[in-house]
Amino acid sequence: MPDEHLTNVFEELNRLSFRRQQLIDKRNILTMLIQFKQNNGQNEQQYSRETEELTEIDEQLKALTQQKLELENLQERSGGSHLIDTTVSSPDSPPPFPAPQVILDVELLPRSSAQTQCPFCHQYITTDVTTKAGSATYIVCLISILFCCIAGCCAIPFCVDGCKDVVHKCPKCRSHIKTCKKL
Ligand SMILES: [Zn+2]
Repeated sequence: MPDEHLTNVFEELNRLSFRRQQLIDKRNILTMLIQFKQNNGQNEQQYSRETEELTEIDEQLKALTQQKLELENLQERSGGSHLIDTTVSSPDSPPPFPAPQVILDVELLPRSSAQTQCPFCHQYITTDVTTKAGSATYIVCLISILFCCIAGCCAIPFCVDGCKDVVHKCPKCRSHIKTCKKL
């Protein structure tokens, strides 16, 4: 049996369960409505429409249950049960969060703190990251002075980390590992 077919059966089952839940919810609301009308002394004719609807829902639910059973049988016959099991959890499946990546080439360090091997003390570390004004910061500052500097907005690039250089340092030996220059 092709996998695609199994996936279809699985999706169909999900759809059925969803529809079933919808019907059950609707049924609960209707039952409450009928009870409310009964408590308010209304006679049977006044809530006959709700009773009819309730019977209809019951029939639909019965049909859905039947369909669900048939689909489940089909799935079992085609050996699909293991397909569902794998979606839950198996000892071989990878953890939901990827393991943090150790970047061995310091030239490839990103603009954020990362795991690497310190080239000086050779320990595996997570870099300490600081920002400092670099050429990009001064260029943006200069541009803002040339064009529209009002009330010291030329100082903004010195506050925005995106405009600055990023410095990676080793937390163990405090050596400077790399500066990621903005420009
Ligand atoms: Zn170090």
